[in-house]
Amino acid sequence: MARTDAIVLGAGIVGTSIALQLAKRGMSVALVDRGGVGEETSYGNSGAIEGSTTYPPGFPASLTASMRVAFKQASDANYHIGFLPKVASWLLKFRAASRADRILETARLNRPLFARAIPEHEILMLESGSSRYMRKNGWIKLYRSEEGFAALQPELRLAREFGLSFEVLDPDGARALEPSLNPVFKRAVFWPGVISLSNPLAVTQAYAMRFSALGGVTLKGDARTLHRAGNGWRVDTDEGPLDSPEVIVALGPWAPDLLEPLGLKLPMGFKRGYHRHYKTNNSAPLSRPVIDVAAGYLITPMEQGIRLTTGAEFAARDAAPSPVQFDRLMPRLRELYSLGERADDKTWLGARPCFPDSRPVIGRAPGQKGLWLAIGHAHWGLTLGPATGRLIAEMMAGEPPFCDPQPYAAERFLS
Ligand SMILES: Cc1cc2nc3c(=O)[nH]c(=O)nc-3n(C[C@H](O)[C@H](O)[C@H](O)COP(=O)(O)OP(=O)(O)OC[C@H]3O[C@@H](n4cnc5c(N)ncnc54)[C@H](O)[C@@H]3O)c2cc1C
Repeated sequence: MARTDAIVLGAGIVGTSIALQLAKRGMSVALVDRGGVGEETSYGNSGAIEGSTTYPPGFPASLTASMRVAFKQASDANYHIGFLPKVASWLLKFRAASRADRILETARLNRPLFARAIPEHEILMLESGSSRYMRKNGWIKLYRSEEGFAALQPELRLAREFGLSFEVLDPDGARALEPSLNPVFKRAVFWPGVISLSNPLAVTQAYAMRFSALGGVTLKGDARTLHRAGNGWRVDTDEGPLDSPEVIVALGPWAPDLLEPLGLKLPMGFKRGYHRHYKTNNSAPLSRPVIDVAAGYLITPMEQGIRLTTGAEFAARDAAPSPVQFDRLMPRLRELYSLGERADDKTWLGARPCFPDSRPVIGRAPGQKGLWLAIGHAHWGLTLGPATGRLIAEMMAGEPPFCDPQPYAAERFLS
C-alpha cells in the first residue's frame, strides 16, 4: 500500500499551490485530480492577481439594479429561474453579508490574505520559471456614470487606509494608458498594484512542475473515493490505493461532492461565469485588464487573444450553459473597444465557488481528523492560491501562520 505524508485533492491553482508549499517543507505529497492540472476554473478565469482588492462584489445595492437583474436586463448578472428556490437561502445570506458594515468587515478579514497574494505568487513564479506570464501593469476599472463612481468612495477610503495605490482618472487619463478605449465612460480608476497573467493555465502547470521537481507526485483519481482507512484516509488512484494521515480538499466548486457525503454541509454557492476569446485587433492593442463596472464584464490580453469574461450567473453548477450575458453586454463592449473576430468556437463556462460571506474556508474540517479544507475562493482563487497554500502548509507544519486563520474557519457556518 502506497503512503504519503499528505494527499491534496484537486489540482487547480489552490490545490497545486498547497502541494507545492507542503513539498517545499520536505513533506511527501501526492496531488490527485480526475483531470489535468489547472484545466478547470483555474484555466478559464480573467487572469488577474488582485492584491488591491478590498470590497467583495455584493448583492445589488439599489432597487433599480435589483430590478434590472430580476427582469434579465442586466449584463452583469443572470439567473436560472428554476434554480432560485434552491439558492434562495444562500442569496438571503449573501444579501445580509452585502450590508455596508458587513462588506467592510469582510474586506478587513480578507485583507491579510490579499496582502500576501502577489508576494507569494512572485516567489512561486520565480521558483517555477513562470515569471514571463506575469504583467505588472495594473488594471483599469471604468465607470460610465458619476453615480457609479460616487458609490465607490467608501471602497477608495478603505484602500487609502490599507495603503493601496490607485489613481482616479478622467477619460483622457485612462486613454493615456489604454489609447484604444473609446471615451464612453465618465471616470476610471487605475490600480497599479494588480498583476495579470497572460496564461493562468501555464502558471498552474509550472507550479505543478516545480512540485514534481521537489519530489511531489501527481496522480489521476476520483476524490469521491476518499474514505477512512485505519487512523488515516485512503483514496483510489490510477496507480492504486493511496493512504495518508492528512488530506487537503481543494476541489473548488466540486468540494460539496466529497464533503456532503461525509456529513459536512457548508453553504457553498456558485457564481457561474463564461469566457470567449477574440483576435487582437492590430489597430486596438490592449496592454492590461479593463473592467467595465456597470456592464459587468472584463477584457484582458491573453496568449489566446483578448479574453472576455462575464459577471455572475446564479444557476446550478452543472446546468447547461446559457451565455445570454454576451448578447446583453456586446453592444456596450463594442462602443468601448474594437474587438477582432472570435478566436474560438466554444464558450467556456466555469463556476466560482462562493460562500455567502465572501470569505474562503481554510483550515481543519470540523469533526474529521486529518482532513483540511481550502475551498470557496470565489472571485479570487487565482489571486489567493499561493497565499492559501502557505497558510495551510504553516498550519499543518505547526509553524506560526503568517496571519490569523480563524476568520477562514469552517466553524463559522456550524455554530
Ligand atoms: C469567469 C471567471 C473569472 C474569474 N477571474 C478571476 C480572476 O481574474 N482572478 C482570480 O483570482 N480569480 C478569478 N476567478 C476565480 C478563480 O478562477 C477560482 O476561484 C479558482 O480557479 C478556484 O481554484 P480552485 O483550485 O479552488 O478550483 P479549480 O481550479 O476548479 O480546481 C478544482 C480541481 O478539482 C478537480 N476535481 C473536481 N472533482 C474532482 C473529483 N471528484 N476527483 C478528483 N478531482 C476533482 C477538478 O478537475 C479541478 O482540477 C474567476 C472565475 C471565473 C469563473
